[in-house]
Amino acid sequence: MDKKILVNEIFGPTIQGEGALIGKPTIFVRTGSCDYRCHWCDTLYAVLPEYRHEWTPMTAEAILEEVARLSAGHPILITISGGNPALQPLEPLLDIGHQCGFTFALETQGSVARSWFAKLDHLVLSPKPPSSAMSTDWEKLAACVAAAGSQTHTVLKIVVFDEEDYAYARRVGAALPHLPIYLQIGNPTPLQSVQGTADETFFSSQQPNLCAMEQHLSWLLDRVTADGWNEVTVLPQLHVLLWGNKRGV
Ligand code: SF4
Repeated sequence: MDKKILVNEIFGPTIQGEGALIGKPTIFVRTGSCDYRCHWCDTLYAVLPEYRHEWTPMTAEAILEEVARLSAGHPILITISGGNPALQPLEPLLDIGHQCGFTFALETQGSVARSWFAKLDHLVLSPKPPSSAMSTDWEKLAACVAAAGSQTHTVLKIVVFDEEDYAYARRVGAALPHLPIYLQIGNPTPLQSVQGTADETFFSSQQPNLCAMEQHLSWLLDRVTADGWNEVTVLPQLHVLLWGNKRGV
């Protein structure tokens, strides 16, 4: 029997707020459990074991039933997020979901490679920069890219809070030059702050400060153009602009 998938929440339809699929209608399936503990994680309820009681073990069929209910039976992109969804047994979900007409994007930090990455339509690898206080295992990141192969649309997405993160993004881009790379300004959680950041007002605010976000985005754009780094795409988080840090939208 297939192992069950730990699901934290299923919500939508909404839009993808980040990266290569920004603006695309989607339903999110957020899995529980993560092997990282990023300093600025904004989904700790899908990470920390003390929230385990909120994670429901579900079969692939039960997940797809809920997705189909939310989409009123229309085919839609399913975005699998976390936590780290690579920790979950997702292959049956991809197999059955594709048979039902759904497509799949999965977002992971690239710390665990799975052979079923090759069955995804989109793989978003989001290795974490120094401000997360996590360190990157470059071999595992490369293994994720290799596991996805040539049929899956694989992209990189790097969150940038400060100069150090920017330098890290340059390093990732240099290590994997064949992959499209998306840079995104960071969005600290309301009660967290990040040391040594470019804009103290932004990073100490209880709610996203749109003016400060604009300034931070402008700083990042200037940084990229000054370096002539023209292969990247620089984006804000669209859902934060629309709904702030509200959960489930
Ligand atoms: S990898 Fe993602 S979900 Fe896990 S702790 Fe970091 S930001 Fe949170």
